[in-house]
Amino acid sequence: MNFDEKVVASIVQQVLSRVDMGSAEPGCAAAGGDWGVFETMNEAVEAAAAAQKQYLNCSMHDRAKYVQAIRDVVLEEENLDYISRLAVEETGMGAYEYKLVKNRLAATKSPGIEDLTTDAMSGDDGLTLVEYSPFGVIGAITPTTNPTETVICNSIGMLAAGNSVVFSPHPRAKMVSLHLIQLINRALARAGAPANLVVTVSEPSIENTNAMMNHPAVRMLVATGGPGIVKTVLSSGKKAIGAGAGNPPVVVDETANIEKAAQDIVDGCSFDNNLPCIAEKEVIAVDSIADYLMFNMKKSGAYEVKDPAVIDKLVKLVVQENGKSPVTAFVGKSARYILEKVGISVGPEVKVIMMETAEDHPFVQVELMMPILPIVRVPDVDAAIDMAIRVEHGNRHTAMMHSRNVDKLTKMAKLIQTTIFVKNGPSYAGIGVGGEGCTTFTIAGPTGEGLTTAKSFARRRRCVLVGGLDVR
Ligand code: NAD
Repeated sequence: MNFDEKVVASIVQQVLSRVDMGSAEPGCAAAGGDWGVFETMNEAVEAAAAAQKQYLNCSMHDRAKYVQAIRDVVLEEENLDYISRLAVEETGMGAYEYKLVKNRLAATKSPGIEDLTTDAMSGDDGLTLVEYSPFGVIGAITPTTNPTETVICNSIGMLAAGNSVVFSPHPRAKMVSLHLIQLINRALARAGAPANLVVTVSEPSIENTNAMMNHPAVRMLVATGGPGIVKTVLSSGKKAIGAGAGNPPVVVDETANIEKAAQDIVDGCSFDNNLPCIAEKEVIAVDSIADYLMFNMKKSGAYEVKDPAVIDKLVKLVVQENGKSPVTAFVGKSARYILEKVGISVGPEVKVIMMETAEDHPFVQVELMMPILPIVRVPDVDAAIDMAIRVEHGNRHTAMMHSRNVDKLTKMAKLIQTTIFVKNGPSYAGIGVGGEGCTTFTIAGPTGEGLTTAKSFARRRRCVLVGGLDVR
């Protein structure tokens, strides 16, 4: 056999780097898990803690390489296709074409180590650095609505910041989450990373999430989900990021480009069957343009339900009896599917179900996460802004406005205080699709980190050198 010298050198290098890490096969069963998947939460956390200790010795160059390995493995066509399909099949929510877009987005536009900028102060007393340093082990709780997108963007940001991460996926998204975590582990092992930087348990459950939250080695909690889990992590006594529910209103006034607004609203509302927490959930339109807006929305793929009896039927079908939550079986389902259940048959061109309602209607008040879009008429733009603030429920999440009146755009942006405010575009422009900026699937309104990036998962530390190294 004739070995090329370069190949031999590369094999030797790989073996040496693995021996260096104390394991001949990083990430594999030798480390106790099955490519990052452990039987018990205790084992998972302990493995992540050991991994993070090793990770402290890796360079920033190494971190960049591992982050790139995560991006690359997700972007492999076969993997992207598989996780996008499986997410829809397993959760019964959303649509494959949109999952492809969202997973690709998470892999390409979640910031890596470049996000971790250093501040330096120098003077007669020396040099002081303020740097972003890891928390250690992070416990990340992920939702059914964006199961893979959240694992991708959290893994990239958390590892870029030097942490390891223990995921607690939603039990209804178990298969796809575990599959993705194993893919990431294999990719990290190939890139030479310490084993078990990204781990989870074989049976995700509320008990396991609680065990994770209570484990002393977990130094930070990040919850992406509804109000219950956000409240739980914020009451944990640990540093926590809460990325909670939204109910994004859209205001349209008489100065807007109505044809474009109609198209943007239908596109944003129907994106992944309205699963994104940022997606348009109710429209508040100034009376003078409301009819023309609805006319154009119909041209863009909205189906108007006028019969009050059918609207009532829809309410009974998709809103739980408590009047506060959607019926899970309809979350992330298509407009066509939902209409069929009330005896209305439409073609695939119908993307959104719309109807005129009053402000107190459950479709306005409840975060439905399905393409049902109520339209509420108001006399003027000031009344629209006031109503938008009320129906957003203080989530400080996302809002949209279509207007060319700079004063009113400014007024709404200031008063509504949402983390994302999109002017004259669809909601997804706010997470970097057709709008400037990076992406994230963990939007932290309640705790104020906003669109989380690597630096959200890091601690600010000051390192002071007294005297010297001042070259001015
Ligand atoms: P969910 O709250 O039902 O579940 C989210 C996660 O929390 C899951 O992993 C679940 O297992 C866990 N969980 C829930 N209650 C728990 C408890 N009592 N103890 C332990 N773990 C618990 O939410 P979901 O239906 O999966 O996702 C939809 C919700 O998430 C919506 O409200 C949506 O707006 C929100 N969301 C917010 C963002 C954001 O970035 N702000 C992103 C995606 C989803």
